[in-house]
Amino acid sequence: MPVLEVCGLSKSFGGFRAVSDVDLVVAEGEIAAVIGPNGAGKSTLFSLITGHLQPTAGRVLVNGRDITGVAPHKICGMGLGRSFQRTNIFPKLTVLENVRAALLAHRGQGPNFWSRANRLCHGEAQALLASIGLSVHAPATAGTLSYGNQKQLELGIALASDPKILLLDEPTAGMSASETHETIALIERIARERRLTLLFTEHDMAVVFSIAHRIAVMYQGRVIAHGDPVAVRADAQVRRVYLGD
Ligand code: ADP
Ligand code: MG
Repeated sequence: MPVLEVCGLSKSFGGFRAVSDVDLVVAEGEIAAVIGPNGAGKSTLFSLITGHLQPTAGRVLVNGRDITGVAPHKICGMGLGRSFQRTNIFPKLTVLENVRAALLAHRGQGPNFWSRANRLCHGEAQALLASIGLSVHAPATAGTLSYGNQKQLELGIALASDPKILLLDEPTAGMSASETHETIALIERIARERRLTLLFTEHDMAVVFSIAHRIAVMYQGRVIAHGDPVAVRADAQVRRVYLGD
């Protein structure tokens, strides 16, 4: 059984169809990518999956259960985590406090830094930062981190909800080549260690073809091709509309 299944998913904004009749299946443990030019509907698709937007039509199933219309925090509680294309961190809090706040939020607690729950999750936050290689930045104000480190912190915040399925929207957007390389290695390691199912969007083709087991290509709201990297790279329509052939 697929862990994530999207059936006939559509979203219109006014008369404009941002996502149009999308079908998608992601198997357990798979690293799957959604690619496509700017405005293709990738972020909208992610928001439909995570409940941040309601579809105009179609369904989303997680482990066979219909989660269409369920509130985002409930979907998150079912093990489906996400990061956002624009970072979602609290810039004035420290790096450690950001992760603690995310851990507390997952437990349904407010960011009260003197509460017992918060003291308990201090160690957990430190362990999470260690696992993403940000321990050295723990006391730094999050807003002062490099852009690459902020995106890595964003990944840590997404991991605080202990997801089984993780959706990453352009995890390396705006990064230098070396930051991209480092972040992709980090994502691969985390996915392996936590046995995650990963669905990500990415504009860097080299990244996509190097780590994705399966790729869906979106164009003007539709999935125009899907399959393994070799099949997708060879697809004539993909080459025409996306790779610029
Ligand atoms: P991608 O992530 O592939 O770049 P998006 O999902 O962000 O694409 O956007 C797909 C299309 O939907 C774009 O044309 C965008 O302008 C439009 N769109 C996205 N969100 C909204 C919204 N809230 N209201 C109106 N149009 C939107
Ligand atoms: Mg986007």
